[in-house]
Amino acid sequence: MYIVMLGAPGSGKGTIGKILSEDMRLTHISTGDIFREQISKQTELGKKIESYISNGMLVPDEVTIETVKTRLSEDDVKEGAILDGFPRTVAQAEALRDFLEAKNPSQKRIAIELDVPDSEIVKRVVNRVTCSNKSCGAIYNLETRKPKQEGICDICGSSLTKRADDNEETVSKRLAVYHANSKELLEFYAKNNRLYSVYPKQLDEAVANIKAYLENDKGSN
Ligand code: ADP
Ligand code: ZN
Repeated sequence: MYIVMLGAPGSGKGTIGKILSEDMRLTHISTGDIFREQISKQTELGKKIESYISNGMLVPDEVTIETVKTRLSEDDVKEGAILDGFPRTVAQAEALRDFLEAKNPSQKRIAIELDVPDSEIVKRVVNRVTCSNKSCGAIYNLETRKPKQEGICDICGSSLTKRADDNEETVSKRLAVYHANSKELLEFYAKNNRLYSVYPKQLDEAVANIKAYLENDKGSN
């Protein structure tokens, strides 16, 4: 199964995507994480995309689609994956559909929308901190989902850091970019696929609802 996580920045795509990936044994792929790693390593790709990300703009479709196709060609995603942060435009959604139809037509494809009111988004994002250990990547919120010990990851003990783009100015930009694309993107999935929308007010409840939906959905593509 391929699950696409849709939602504004800070809506919980990463947090919920990671929980689902462990429960369902599906690889979690976050384009944001891939891009941030490329930037920290200062690769050619990293240098090319850095200014888009720090300005809250989308990385161009061409570059993003190529990056995802390469990742989806690896062995650990033969049975499916959880895609977090991709697609973000209809062009990306079409490219993904075409790619998976050619590569793995029998696997189901489902989109989950995390529908959080804008009034909550800025608060969520400016309070977000992330584990600095890339292979862990746990996400915390300094108001609603605090680490047990300040600045330290509960899971792996590494230090917690704040993402450079998680400031008030950039998040408003990212939110505007999200709304510029979201209507069309949601329509694409409502029409071409299956779309399940949930307001993830309580994390546990949202995860349970999504899992119940996925279990009850016996249809194929
Ligand atoms: P968030 O959902 O909180 O915005 P992400 O880690 O998903 O965080 O994305 C961070 C940034 O990476 C985005 O603001 C954008 O610049 C870039 N990015 C991630 N995924 C995509 C994508 N599918 N298309 C274009 N740019 C992307
Ligand atoms: Zn950690």
